[in-house]
Amino acid sequence: MTTIKAVFMDVDGTLFLGESLIPGAVESVKRIREFGLKLIFLTNNSFYSRRMILEKLVESGFEARSEEVVNSGFAAAEYLKELLGPCRVFTVGDVGLVEEIVLGGHLVVAAAEDAEAVAAGGTKDISYWRLVEGHRAIMKGVPFLATNKDHVYMTEKGPMPGAGAIISFLETSTRRKAILIGKPGRYMADLAMRRLGVDSSEVVVIGDNEEVDMGLADAIGSKGILTLTGISKNPHSSKWLVAKTLYELPERLSTLL
Ligand SMILES: [Mg+2]
Repeated sequence: MTTIKAVFMDVDGTLFLGESLIPGAVESVKRIREFGLKLIFLTNNSFYSRRMILEKLVESGFEARSEEVVNSGFAAAEYLKELLGPCRVFTVGDVGLVEEIVLGGHLVVAAAEDAEAVAAGGTKDISYWRLVEGHRAIMKGVPFLATNKDHVYMTEKGPMPGAGAIISFLETSTRRKAILIGKPGRYMADLAMRRLGVDSSEVVVIGDNEEVDMGLADAIGSKGILTLTGISKNPHSSKWLVAKTLYELPERLSTLL
């Protein structure tokens, strides 16, 4: 039997609904650390940067270190570095994505004609003209990255259209398919595994979205625990352990150790 060494913990819909903590979140993460497992907060959220996510975690009472946060904006910047080296990027996304692209050594450009790549993700501030410029950049044939394709983003006020809705707009208009960086794609997860020095059989993926989080577990061949705290309420597959609340989560996880 393989030993479980690490947990990939989702953030939105699993620990938070929007800006509100989900009951049991802090206690549950604390218990998981007591099992001696390594932890990565692995999130498709590119709306925020890793710095902003860490701030939110620490302010909410989690014990977390900067190297434990891996998000899709950061992973997109890493992907572009591997593919093109430092390059000029047109973003359709929010400030967190821009911050990660810049930290990755790239230049964020305002015009399609200057773009060597397009990185698109979730944003609450989008204009038709930003999409037009993104469309034009993608039509040049440059790499087109989607930080994630989540259909919704779960908040305390209910679901809001996710990054996937914005990606669909651009995929439809350009008839090109975006390269998926976040979950259930494996690029971001591979970065996290490399960082921890673990392989997928030693990881448990925890999250609230069956399609995205358990989809990743499926894609990389890891164990998964679905929490019914956010998007998924009625699991389609019986393959995953289920935690109805976060209070149940450490106990479910302990059965895999
Ligand atoms: Mg989630």
